[in-house]
Amino acid sequence: MGASHGHDAADDETPGPRVLVVSAVSPRVRTIAVERPGPSDVTYLEAARKGLGVTLRHFVKNVLGKRRPAAALARGEEVAKQGLVPWNEIETIQYPEEKTHYPERFRGLHRLMQRDDGAVRCVACMLCPTVCPAHCITIVPAEADDQGVEKKPAVFEIDELRCVVCGLCVEACPCDAIRMDSGVHAKPVEHRGDAIMTREKLLDLSKQVGKDPASTATQGGEGPDWRE
Ligand code: SF4
Ligand code: SF4
Repeated sequence: MGASHGHDAADDETPGPRVLVVSAVSPRVRTIAVERPGPSDVTYLEAARKGLGVTLRHFVKNVLGKRRPAAALARGEEVAKQGLVPWNEIETIQYPEEKTHYPERFRGLHRLMQRDDGAVRCVACMLCPTVCPAHCITIVPAEADDQGVEKKPAVFEIDELRCVVCGLCVEACPCDAIRMDSGVHAKPVEHRGDAIMTREKLLDLSKQVGKDPASTATQGGEGPDWRE
């Protein structure tokens, strides 16, 4: 660093690290004070104390608070929206007997969509297994019966144990053939093979959860001129 002059940190109003010295040759060259973490940050004692405090607060509320029936959860949500949560609002629900409301974008088990004629919408383009970071999608393509579609998946399997629920497969699909809007959790299984969703299971899930199994989205883009 070239010749420099002293520079009081209090004079420096720019946000950021505390400036000790500014170079006289080039004002952009500065000596800054390095903020080292204090003893409480290094030992995490302060953070652990705060965390235990939150746990203790929830414990006391859950033990002493009045338990509300599941039917009151909806009313409780309304109260919470107004910022009027009563002190005895319990912090947990008795899952799976009680279920809370999931947001619309909740990613549940995958399901495969169908065309109007009942055929699977997937055209085995292999985009979803390519983008999947967990390599948990297996597709074996076959020639499609429909002349307007080149391929179909003879095998379409997802290993839900390996899936990291990132949703990239849904984003990558150009056909709206795969969705994660079932609202269903992956179930615990005793054998790894039971966690594999086959093509038939993926197609059936829509019916099980009462969602429309068909998609009317434009296949492969928006109209014949979608490349332009
Ligand atoms: S959600 Fe992510 S990890 Fe799971 S199958 Fe799709 S791309 Fe793979
Ligand atoms: S991205 Fe869509 S169309 Fe392509 S293989 Fe996956 S589910 Fe099938």
